[in-house]
Amino acid sequence: MPTTGETCQTSGVYRVINHIQHPKEITMVKGKTFPPCAECQAKVAYQLVRQTEH
Ligand SMILES: [Zn+2]
Repeated sequence: MPTTGETCQTSGVYRVINHIQHPKEITMVKGKTFPPCAECQAKVAYQLVRQTEH
């Protein structure tokens, strides 16, 4: 699973899965870098929820 700092390989909606304090879904585009938690800058892991067309 992708984590903060890795490059996105698949465009889509991702959910933070290991950070219950700030659960979020973000939209990512292939080639972008996965960000840290938007609230506290913690390193987090993501799970692809829904792939988008590109
Ligand atoms: Zn956080």
